Amino acid sequence: MHTKPLSEMTKRDVKNIVVYISDSFRYDHIPSFLAEKGLLGKAIAPSTFTASSIPSIFSGLYPKSHRIWGFDSGLKGNSVFTHINNAGYGTSDIFSWPVKAVEAGDGPVALSELDQSKPFLYVMHHMGGHSPYGDTVPPDWQSMEDYFRSFSAQEHRERYAKAITHTVSRFEELIDDLDDAGILDETLVIFTSDHGELLGERGGIWGHGNVITPELVEVPMLFIGPGIPRERQYERLLSGIDIAPTIMSLLKGNVPREMEGVDLWEEVPLERRKVRADLWNQTKYDLIDYAATSLWDDGGGYVQRIGSLSEHTLFTFGAHWYKYDHSHLSRSVSPFKLFRLYRSVAKKRLKYGSPSFSVNTVHSTAPGKFEKKEDENVEPDHDRLRQLGYLQ
Ligand SMILES: [Zn+2]
Repeated sequence: MHTKPLSEMTKRDVKNIVVYISDSFRYDHIPSFLAEKGLLGKAIAPSTFTASSIPSIFSGLYPKSHRIWGFDSGLKGNSVFTHINNAGYGTSDIFSWPVKAVEAGDGPVALSELDQSKPFLYVMHHMGGHSPYGDTVPPDWQSMEDYFRSFSAQEHRERYAKAITHTVSRFEELIDDLDDAGILDETLVIFTSDHGELLGERGGIWGHGNVITPELVEVPMLFIGPGIPRERQYERLLSGIDIAPTIMSLLKGNVPREMEGVDLWEEVPLERRKVRADLWNQTKYDLIDYAATSLWDDGGGYVQRIGSLSEHTLFTFGAHWYKYDHSHLSRSVSPFKLFRLYRSVAKKRLKYGSPSFSVNTVHSTAPGKFEKKEDENVEPDHDRLRQLGYLQ
């Protein structure tokens, strides 16, 4: 019989949960010394864009359900932060805007500021493998486009590896902080990411948030805590939407019914479980939006574009030549790259790997047209977004 990722026995010993989200961290980049610290599973990110994926992690809902597709709207009333009193959102080189996106309170707090005598939830969202990669940026750096032009593809990959080393060290410091506070042995620590990163694959695409591919949806989900086995791989597929039900199950004793993920203390994810990732990349020009859903199991998946053929073509080639918000799709254009790009992102439906289900399953579970949440007035941190290449 297949076991639950987290056992009930472990649950008895655990009081607190710490979630470390290392942004843009690809599954295939997790170092073995880190994986060996606990139980490692492969998860599918709910979206390939931070603004949609982070709300999914803290609400247990797919983007289609929470309807947050950009930094101009946020969760209200249905995130783990609204249910749990003793919760903190970590400081130190994190992004500040997801705090607003999930309405986690007045701003970043240090772990030591939490009342550690009570069970707590603590989240740190680290820069991780987000561009600009590495530990320094060029001195004349103005925009993400400048940054991407400043280095060769190989240099970018090396810088990404450096960024991964840095974010892993930051995670180890957090573990040390818990140990120094004497609470490591009563804390479940989860290491994961909001999405992966394309490093020039699929016709020369860099970054994330523009398309859905395996490099962008596959992320690590590592569990470290008392009673949790070390050096162990969890075989069933996990999803970013499993984190919220798992938090609620421990800290509140029940999981809100609307949550779409799995309570990892109580449930065994299905064999050949199918999980979704959705993306709606909106530009100021309606016809070059990218909207797609995708369905994955442990063998692979399908990406299904939503919209007409003309929209797909316009997106692919328009995005390539026209710098719309959050561009840096490609470093240089060649006919071969354009062909690869068409094959990778413009086709209406794409198959990756060997999923155990047929493409008709995607049709039957496809969410249909996306809708945008209009009732919020979250004020994004424009300077920060511009710096990260999301605005021009
Ligand atoms: Zn992100």
